Amino acid sequence: MNARAQKLVEALDEPLIVTTPANVRYLTGFVSSNVAVVVEPERVRLFTDFRYAGAARQVPDVEFVETPRDVITYLTGDLNGTFGFESPNLIYRDFERLRDAGLELVPRVGLVESLRAVKDEDELEKIRRAAAITNEAYARIAEERFVGREERDLAWRVFEIFHELGAEREAFDTIVAAAANGARPHADSGARVIEQGTTIVIDAGAVLDGYCSDCTRTFATGELPDELQRAYDVCLEGQLKGLEAARAGTEAKDADAAARDVITDAGFGDKFGHGLGHGVGIDVHEAPHVAQTSTDVLTLNNVLTIEPGIYLEGTGGVRIEDLVIITDGEPEVLTSFPKELVTVS
Ligand code: ZN
Ligand code: ZN
Repeated sequence: MNARAQKLVEALDEPLIVTTPANVRYLTGFVSSNVAVVVEPERVRLFTDFRYAGAARQVPDVEFVETPRDVITYLTGDLNGTFGFESPNLIYRDFERLRDAGLELVPRVGLVESLRAVKDEDELEKIRRAAAITNEAYARIAEERFVGREERDLAWRVFEIFHELGAEREAFDTIVAAAANGARPHADSGARVIEQGTTIVIDAGAVLDGYCSDCTRTFATGELPDELQRAYDVCLEGQLKGLEAARAGTEAKDADAAARDVITDAGFGDKFGHGLGHGVGIDVHEAPHVAQTSTDVLTLNNVLTIEPGIYLEGTGGVRIEDLVIITDGEPEVLTSFPKELVTVS
């Protein structure tokens, strides 16, 4: 059993059926869309079908069991007794099949995810390298012309640059949101043509060795209307306060408040309608949750984003997002592209 599985075992009240692909990857290194891992005190078994058998045999520290295509049906005949299961992931039909086969099932949430929230050195190094690709991509895209191009052309260009720089894939579809479209935090990059004198929000992240990065910068295409310029200045001030507050031992909601208070005091409180940030790792959104309602406490070697935004309906948006590693002091900031407003042509 490897160290990650051993740590999980120590946190379990009963054996756990792991079906969330990112959790399987974390515990075993194995990547498949059709897999279950059963973690018991003395052993870890990995169940998958013929298509993945070759790779599964190479996985160290697990017992591989080749199953028919339907892994859950196989488990109904193999398992007996009480098992935890990942209730956010196991679909209801599969739950019913396991229950009807006589298993005693205990819903569990976040057991592997809370281990994943604290990165080891190997993971930190992968995320640093994924972030370095993203930094270089921002440096290159900032050299290009923005005005007169469609949002989706720039988004595609970011994708190409990631590929050129050796990224596996994008962590999510790159967002390029100009003018009023930037007032939507999760905008689609569309056929809108970028005009002069407005903001462009670019939110992008590369994946390397299975680990994500995440960065947002807001650019200006010429001089901004006063309200947008003020929104930028306030957002940056809030972002810096959020960074300052984000350290080991701080409650996530207090880090959120440090940034949010600046934005609220400037009169933009109702224009910042999302949390301050999120953990990043195998998934681009994972624990910890950095928001007003969060009960998480920031911990050494959490990797998370600090990303306040101000969204002015009908006018434009501003978001500034850094990816950081939590330490006992100032966080290690992995996203190095400048945060002073950069004007592009
Ligand atoms: Zn982002
Ligand atoms: Zn993010």
